[in-house]
Parts: sequence; structure tokens; C-alpha cells
Amino acid sequence: MTTLPSRDASYDVPETKLDFDAIVIGAGVSGLYQLYRLRQLGLRVRAFDNASGVGGTWFWNRYPGARFDSESWSYSYSFSDEILKDWDWSENFAGQPEIERYLNFAADKLDLKRDIQFDSHVQSAHYQEDTRSWRVTLDDGQSFTARFLVTAIGVLSAPTLPRIEGIERFEGEAHHPARWPDRPVSFEGKRVAVIGTGSTGVQIIQEAAKTAAQLTVYQRTPNWCAPLLNSKISADEMESIRARYPEIMARCQETPGCFIHGPDPRSVFDVTPEEREAFFEQRYSEPGFGIWHGNFRDVLTDKDANAFMSDFMARKIRERVKDPVTAEKLIPKNHGFGTRRVPLETRYYEAYNQPNVTLIDVNETPIECITPNGIKSADGERPFDVIVYASGFDAIAGPFDRIDFRGIGGQRLKDVWSDGPQTFLGVLVTGFPNFMMVMGPHGGLGNFTRFAEYNADWVADLIAYARQRGLTRIEATPTGTMRWTDHVMEMSKALLSNQIDSWMTGVNKNVEGKSVRKVMRYGGGFPQYKEQCDAVAAAAYNEISFS
Ligand code: NAP
Repeated sequence: MTTLPSRDASYDVPETKLDFDAIVIGAGVSGLYQLYRLRQLGLRVRAFDNASGVGGTWFWNRYPGARFDSESWSYSYSFSDEILKDWDWSENFAGQPEIERYLNFAADKLDLKRDIQFDSHVQSAHYQEDTRSWRVTLDDGQSFTARFLVTAIGVLSAPTLPRIEGIERFEGEAHHPARWPDRPVSFEGKRVAVIGTGSTGVQIIQEAAKTAAQLTVYQRTPNWCAPLLNSKISADEMESIRARYPEIMARCQETPGCFIHGPDPRSVFDVTPEEREAFFEQRYSEPGFGIWHGNFRDVLTDKDANAFMSDFMARKIRERVKDPVTAEKLIPKNHGFGTRRVPLETRYYEAYNQPNVTLIDVNETPIECITPNGIKSADGERPFDVIVYASGFDAIAGPFDRIDFRGIGGQRLKDVWSDGPQTFLGVLVTGFPNFMMVMGPHGGLGNFTRFAEYNADWVADLIAYARQRGLTRIEATPTGTMRWTDHVMEMSKALLSNQIDSWMTGVNKNVEGKSVRKVMRYGGGFPQYKEQCDAVAAAAYNEISFS
């Protein structure tokens, strides 16, 4: 006996009347892989990207000093033996030019570019119930239809400028790092201002400090930065990494953030003060995110445990920054270690010992406006040749707000999510049939490639399941969405980071309506995320309605 609803006219719309079987928005790490997977199913797919090349984040963020904070080899695509075999990473934490080359290499290897339309900004995507399809319209008026729409639009792809009067009046060079020009921008001998001290600001500051005549850093909130400790990879080391790829990828699957680093099973309180100090020292002397993701299990969940780590990090800053007043300004006071994204640094703190570098705390000395010559603060105007607005992104839901997504009955996704995202597994949205998100809100967050590959595989399997059964409409049930949203809320309670303002909790004071914290991501970690998604697939997608 069939449980399918009775057939209606729309059920019979031939796929060939639609321009494509699937449209993918985005040709970054996740979009490229999604395009590949859907093409493997035999679908006619078109990907759109507003950039002129592949890479997404790694296309746009070409600022000096941009590089991985995850080990290059743990960020590789894992699905293709050929890509793993033929690509050599030159550094443990590769720089942006190498990452962009890598993504081009992968796209060319898989012959993906023929199905990508570049310089194509998707303005709207509207669901049409009569044909069970999506109409996607670009800002130049071109419009295309497809049965399925997959967003691969990233988490940090909507850059935002600070709300400071006079930005448009500045007559020197001014850039947001995520819209950095595709030409060299030299800081050499120049008067440079950097506004913002997140991961991006930190990478630019340590780079600009090397050559700028004067570098002035405008800081609103200091972050807990930890040593990156980058190094070159020799040919022999690369061979050894290649041999260990299966082990590396398997390790990533075991950890909450899909990094090679996972929490130490011990509590801060299980060890003596000497053992604790030695452990923190060890983590501080190792490359990468071990200090954040491989710390004692309670550092990110228990305020008292966290205080030990924060105290250790504060001591490190005081040791590394010679001027005690500057050191105090660089020590975060309103959040504990690891409760915001930890920027990884290379001689960042030492930059403030240089005579050409000045730190301005904008809480003490607020910026009044940008002038044609520079920046006017409460204590006067400083002239600049270059201003860098490292002021962040309208993160996670922001990229969705910027496209006019409309589901059944013309309802806007932005309105549906006005009190926070509501999704099923971070992939589907009730009321938006045949719409799927890779790395969407309330999905996982961590090592991007690892999460994105899993997500894109899940989406491809779901579409394959429907197509094999001649089903043309896929929608998350309201109960499924309610269950997942409740589960996301429940899992968020343990994490201290959900009690802190940052892009990870959806706060961006430069964006209207984004000053209230929300739960934006799944806090249960990758193994649990995978378990939940696998269970839904194994139960014949029981919380999804098909017709
Ligand atoms: P961010 O972490 O949101 O930092 C933005 C900075 O700008 C903050 O310091 C913020 O201060 C400051 N700011 C914003 N508006 C301001 C204003 N009006 N006046 C003064 N300061 C202002 O953004 P991000 O640094 O671009 O990093 C975002 C994320 O991108 C990172 O957390 C990371 O996940 C990712 N990223 C990754 C890499 C990598 O993997 N290698 C590199 C760079 C970035 P408040 O903190 O006070 O708001």
C-alpha cells in the first residue's frame, strides 16, 4: 500500500521544462563539492557565484596575511584520492594564494567550471508550487528555473563596515579585507589604520606592522589570541601526511569541531596546579587550535575551569607585551578564553612593542568620524594613507538575509527567521520545499571542509532518494523542524560561547536588528550531528514529507 498522496498535475511537470535539475548558489569549498556530487547523480546542475573565480571565502579574502588557522592537510577535500594524491601543501597553515590555487586545482581536476556561472549575483529565489521548482533571478535580470535549490553561500560571506560617520569621505585607500582588491596593496612606508581585532584584524596587523611607517590599531574588544606556529612542509613530510590521510580524516570525524584536535577527557580540576600549568604550556607551544579545541574538557563549558585558562593566557600577554598599559588593554575582560573564535597569531603581541605601532582602545577614545584625511577621535584627528575596516561579517544568517528567498505563499525566509533560525538539521526549512542548505544556520560549525563534505553528501543522498522514487517535492515536517530546533537549543546550553556577544551568536552591532544574541549553530559537535543526520536517512527520512 502506498503512503504517497494522490498525484496532482504538478507531479507530472517534466523535468526537462525546467532549465536545470538543481541550482547551487556559491562556488566555494562547499558549493564546488555539492556541484560535483549532484552532477555525479546525473543531474543537470548550474552553480552561480558573484565572484569571478572559484573559492568563496578564499577568493574574496585576499588581504595581506590571510591564511589558514586549520592545518592545511586537515582542510583538504577527502572524497577524491586523485586530489589527495596530486596536491602538495607547502605549509602547515597555507596562505590565501595557495588555498585559492588549491580550489582551482580541484575544480579543474573535476572539470567543474563549465557548470559555474561567475560574476552572477543571485538576487532572489522564489519557490513556485505549480511546478515544484525554484525561480532564481540574478541582479542583471537573468532568471533560471530548477527543481532543487542548494545554498552553499558560506557562513562569513556578507562583509559589514562599521557604522562610523564619514566613511565615504575618506580620500586615501580604504578596504574591507573580504573585498580586498586583486592587486598588491603595499603598506610599506605608509600610515595605516586597522579597525577591528578579530581573526582577520590580527592577521593584517601582524603583517602591516612589518612595513608600515605607522600602524594605528583601533580596538573595541580584545580577543584571546594564541600562537599559530606555522612551518613549511618538506617533500618527505608531505609524503608522510599523504600516507596518513585516511587516519587524519577519520580523526577529524571523531572531534566536535572536525579538527584534528579534540578535548582532553580530563577536567581542569582532575589535575594538580603544576600539571595544569604544564598542560597549558604544552598546548601554548603546539601549532594550531589544540589550545582551543584540545584543552581540558570543561574549559569551554565551566566558568571556573575557564578562569584558569584565561588567567594563563593573560599572563602570556603580560610577558610578551612590554608596556604594561598596552598589555592590559590587550587582555579581554568581558569574556573568557575560547568563548569567541580564538585568533591564531604570529608575533601579534610583539608588534605592540614596536615604535611604529600604536593601540587605541575606542572605549576610552571613541572614533568620532572618518575625515577626508584620516580618522577623528575624541583626542584629535590622525591622518592615514590606508584604512582597513577589519570589522567583520553579518554572519551565519546574514548571507541568507541578503537574498530574497521566498517559500510557499511568498513567505520570506528573513521573516520566518526573524526570531532566530528554524531548520531541520540545519539543512531544510519547513515552508521552503526543495530548498537545501550546506553549512546553514543550526548546522555544524568547525573545520569547514569536513562539515561541508558531510552536509553535501547528505543533500545528494536525499535528492537521489527522492528521484529514485519519482518524488518531486521534499519538505521538512513542522514536527521535525520543531524537534531539531528544540534539540539545538538544548545543546547550546552547555557552551559558554552562547553567553557571549560575537558573530557566532549572531551579534553584529553594525547591522540593524542584530544586537541581540541568538543560538545560531549546533553545539553538539560533529559526531552527534552526524549521528542525528544518519539516523534520519536510515529511517527513510521519516521527518521529511515527500510527494
Ligand atoms: P570579527 O571576528 O567579527 O571581528 C570584527 C572586529 O571588528 C571586532 O574586533 C569588532 O569589535 C570590530 N568592530 C566592528 N565594528 C566596529 C566599530 N564600529 N568600531 C570598532 N571596532 C569595530 O570578524 P573577523 O575578524 O573578520 O573574523 C570573522 C571570522 O572569520 C573569524 O572569527 C574566523 O572564524 C574567520 N576567519 C578565519 C580565518 C582563518 O581561518 N584563517 C582568518 C580570518 C577570519 P567587537 O568585537 O567589539 O565587536
